[in-house]
Amino acid sequence: MIANLVIVIASLVFMEVFAIYFHKHVMHGPGWGWHESHHVVTPGYFEKNDLYTLCFSVIAIGLFIAGSLWWSPLWYTALGVTIYGLLYGFVHDGLVHQRWPFRYAPKGGYLRRLVLAHRLHHYTTTKHGAVSFGFLWAGDPEKLKARLKNDEHA
Ligand SMILES: [Zn+2]
Ligand SMILES: [Zn+2]
Repeated sequence: MIANLVIVIASLVFMEVFAIYFHKHVMHGPGWGWHESHHVVTPGYFEKNDLYTLCFSVIAIGLFIAGSLWWSPLWYTALGVTIYGLLYGFVHDGLVHQRWPFRYAPKGGYLRRLVLAHRLHHYTTTKHGAVSFGFLWAGDPEKLKARLKNDEHA
């Protein structure tokens, strides 16, 4: 029981670290072809960038299947990945980009900081020069703003 809980939490934490790396070096790198749709205005509800969510969902489903067939720790890994996906959806697609059918934006606290930091991530519409690649972890928005300003001058 405890071991399974540790697996879930560890995969949740791992996913955020992985997401920061993946967002910075893949999505803003060779994978920009899909991610660009998320940094510019595109018509319609869906963006090419949503294909990333689809890919990770397929991976999670694969882990669930492998976990139930062969090795149960994989099932708990999949659970951690799925909880991460839900939190990502809530924070990124919901709080930041308001893709839900109602309006709710946090007025303060850590959630507000997440929203501000990700808005600053969207300050750039190109592959290079973006700040704040995390989704559940965010740096101080004032410091991020200062970094963007610095980069502009450079
Ligand atoms: Zn981005
Ligand atoms: Zn975004």
